[in-house]
Amino acid sequence: GLLLAAALALAVVEPLVHALRRQSRRLERRSLELERLALVGENTSAAVLVGDAAHRVQWVNAAFTSCTGWGAAEVEGALTVELLAHPLADQTVCAALRDAVAAGRPQRAELRCRRRDGSDLWLDVELRPLHDAHGTLRGFITVGHEVGAPQAERGRVAPEQVGLSEVADRGQGQQPLYAAARADRLTGLPDRGAAMARLERALAHARSHRGYGFALLFIDFDRFKHVNHTLGHDGGDELLRQIAERLRLALRPGDELARVDSCTDLAARLGGDEFAAVLDGVRDADTVAAVADRLLRELAEPFNVLDHPVRSSASIGIVCVADGADGVESAAALLRDADTAMYEAKRAGRGRWVMFERSMHERLLHTMALEHDLRRALRGDELFVAYQPVVELASGRLSGVEALVRWQHPERGTIGPAEFVPVAEECGLVGDLGHRVLMLACRQFMHWQRTFGERAPATLAVNLSRAQLDRPGFTDEVAQVLQGAGMSAQQLQLEVTEALAAQDARAQAVLRELKARGVRLALDDFGSGYSSLACLHQLPVDSVKIDRTFVRHAQTVEVHRVLIEATIRVARTLGMTTVAEGIETEGQAALLAALACDRGQGWLYGRPMTADELERWLPPAAAGIVVA
Ligand code: C2E
Ligand code: CA
Ligand code: CA
Repeated sequence: GLLLAAALALAVVEPLVHALRRQSRRLERRSLELERLALVGENTSAAVLVGDAAHRVQWVNAAFTSCTGWGAAEVEGALTVELLAHPLADQTVCAALRDAVAAGRPQRAELRCRRRDGSDLWLDVELRPLHDAHGTLRGFITVGHEVGAPQAERGRVAPEQVGLSEVADRGQGQQPLYAAARADRLTGLPDRGAAMARLERALAHARSHRGYGFALLFIDFDRFKHVNHTLGHDGGDELLRQIAERLRLALRPGDELARVDSCTDLAARLGGDEFAAVLDGVRDADTVAAVADRLLRELAEPFNVLDHPVRSSASIGIVCVADGADGVESAAALLRDADTAMYEAKRAGRGRWVMFERSMHERLLHTMALEHDLRRALRGDELFVAYQPVVELASGRLSGVEALVRWQHPERGTIGPAEFVPVAEECGLVGDLGHRVLMLACRQFMHWQRTFGERAPATLAVNLSRAQLDRPGFTDEVAQVLQGAGMSAQQLQLEVTEALAAQDARAQAVLRELKARGVRLALDDFGSGYSSLACLHQLPVDSVKIDRTFVRHAQTVEVHRVLIEATIRVARTLGMTTVAEGIETEGQAALLAALACDRGQGWLYGRPMTADELERWLPPAAAGIVVA
């Protein structure tokens, strides 16, 4: 695979960020046999294209690029016939090729193609299906030799005449050219290939008309996976259809497919829960923002899926093109940039739109690198747990420890959870991460129990994140870890944030399950977010942790002191204990003790420490037995 690797490297360097993100998906698709074929392909002077079973482009050789102008990264995923066929190509030839693809048959034809720059190219195209050992169709290899235009066709239409306007005329008078092939089967919207073709034309138009502008919106439905998970495949499909319908209606109305080639807005389905909108003829960002706002509003309205209300939001990434499209490399680059901006919108908290900026690539690259390293860290032993003492405020005695994950990065030193836990959450690694932390911490905790007895911390607090509660069988997972460590459920306290505990019925059900098994629950960071004392009684928690921003100003800001006091009172009434976070001074400790807060945690008592450091921190044997 050296040659393939080299070809890939060339094709992938430019959209590296993008590639990394989709890497796992890609690697799945590229099979060994493909690699072998690609090797053969690289050594011929013919244009070679390898496609999957639907003949979506997987790989092209260098000769293909020099012949057509299309780079490998640009065309990956495009439908081959749609990509290659000139808008004015003979429809019977196109149909024959498409039929061959559908039937998995070989086919040979002379096809009028268009290069990336729109110019004419005639290819003798040979399509060969690839079957695996079981006779299943795995893909196609297509070999193209450049040939002269047939006599009859020569000079009929000059290439420069085939522009946006002519194609638009067709869309009005006749049936849409590729309606069936370009429609996404599930939603009826134009598919990815159609969207790319359309972007390509808009881009060409922008290049030749400085006054023209357009915008691309990359739309991703938030938490679609969750819906799919809870309502099943049919529910997911139904939701996608409804999303498509709303997008269609929210954009300028019309039969999208008939207008694929003409100058109106376009809604398309890129795949999965990813959609795109192309806003035609807009130059100013305000207009685009207004449309994006409208789409967000539409998608935030509740859906009714198989008689279940579904409420979510969407994240949108936007790229605007104007002024002759200076600096825009290709349609594929536009899509990538919009995708990047969408990703930023998700990071910023979802349910919003973000305009693309160059700097995002670097930030994303950083995140991607972190993600890559994190996968390695999870395989090895770069992750460790720091322990911070939690003390009884009245006596100053150690009551427990909180486990706080750390990452010993080989190049970057120790990295804190604030930097990598969100990354782990985004890329679906937080479940594994959480499992690792829980296991390490429980083992360590039991080691201390055995070694230090009375002097050892009596409880262990471990933080949870949202995705962990979504893991099927999470309660059993916790029970197994406890059993494996020989620890009793009452010794473990799991910490969840308020947003997590309050907002979601499913998460609450899991929390109740945990509680039923005897695990203690704490509400973390109380006061930092949607704090509501009124809702406290609905949450199945045993203790409330008062956020350190409140503690910090407890002595100086009256409102904060009053709120802390009220929280402690309400918690006590509900039979919950309280923990103050971030105690740094004697003054804060005294005040919180006076307000009858049960426990405290903070630098005053001890910073998060390695297990060894904590052992040295433990009070000497004699002093540990003082009873308050
Ligand atoms: P948290 O649960 O609120 O943890 C307390 C954080 O406050 C810790 O930051 C701790 O180092 C810091 N802290 C403790 N005492 C003081 C103090 O007196 N002053 C100040 N300024 N800070 C103090 P850390 O370790 O960086 O953790 C940050 C957050 O990351 C944690 O906030 C928790 O939400 C999350 N986290 C940590 N470990 C894990 C984990 O294993 N899994 C998950 N899902 N999240 C984790
Ligand atoms: Ca915590
Ligand atoms: Ca906290």
